[in-house]
Order: sequence, then C-alpha cells, then structure tokens
Amino acid sequence: MKKVAIYVCGEVSKKCTANGCLRTFNQKEDSFRRYEEVGCQLVGFNNCNGCEENPVESLKVKIEKFKKTDVDKVHLSTCIRGRCDHYEEFAKEFAKYFDVIGYTHGSDNGKKNNNININKYIIFE
Ligand code: SF4
Repeated sequence: MKKVAIYVCGEVSKKCTANGCLRTFNQKEDSFRRYEEVGCQLVGFNNCNGCEENPVESLKVKIEKFKKTDVDKVHLSTCIRGRCDHYEEFAKEFAKYFDVIGYTHGSDNGKKNNNININKYIIFE
C-alpha cells in the first residue's frame, strides 16, 4: 500500500474542485494506474500558495507535513505540469524526500512541460 499526496496549482485551485485528480485516484486510472496491484491511500492534498508568493520556498512547510504522514509518492497535478514555470523545480525539491510522479490525470505527456518522474534522491545527512 503506497501513501500518496497530490500537489496542485494554487491559481487553478481557486476554481477547480479537483474532480479530475480525485476521480482518477479513486478509479486507479492514468497516473494512478501504477497502484492497481499494490493499492494506495491518499494521505495529503495541498496546493501551492500562488504565483505571487515564493512558490518553491513555500514547499518546505508542506514537505514537513507530508513527511509526518509517511508519504511515499507525491503526484504533481496535471495543472501544474500544464502551466507552471516551476514544475521542474517543484519536482526536484519534492524528490529529495519522496518519489515524484509528474502528473495526475490525462495523457502521459504534457503540452508545456514534459512529464517528469523522479525516484527519491538519496540524501546524505
Ligand atoms: S506558481 Fe505554478 S503552481 Fe503555483 S499558482 Fe503559479 S502556476 Fe500554479
């Protein structure tokens, strides 16, 4: 059983109810198909603080919360992949602690950003 968190775009979340992310999670479709055998549990769902904040800096507090709930995999949302200039930075920052899957629903490939999936970095502390 994998513990999953979904991280979505703060601007899009002002008018999105996360239907696509949650539907595909619940039905184990698209990016969540990989959990068909092993199973998954949604333990985190959060959004970026918005373009006017420091979006990469604001990950730190979210990462600490995700660590407390033993998140294995962070899925960056398809809306982040599709519109955010910080997509790759987000992926690399999360990947210091978790495996990162670069989308939630829809096609495996993005229009603005290529899909990025990163296994957790090994950190020497
Ligand atoms: S910084 Fe990226 S993820 Fe955050 S609100 Fe802006 S476009 Fe969305």
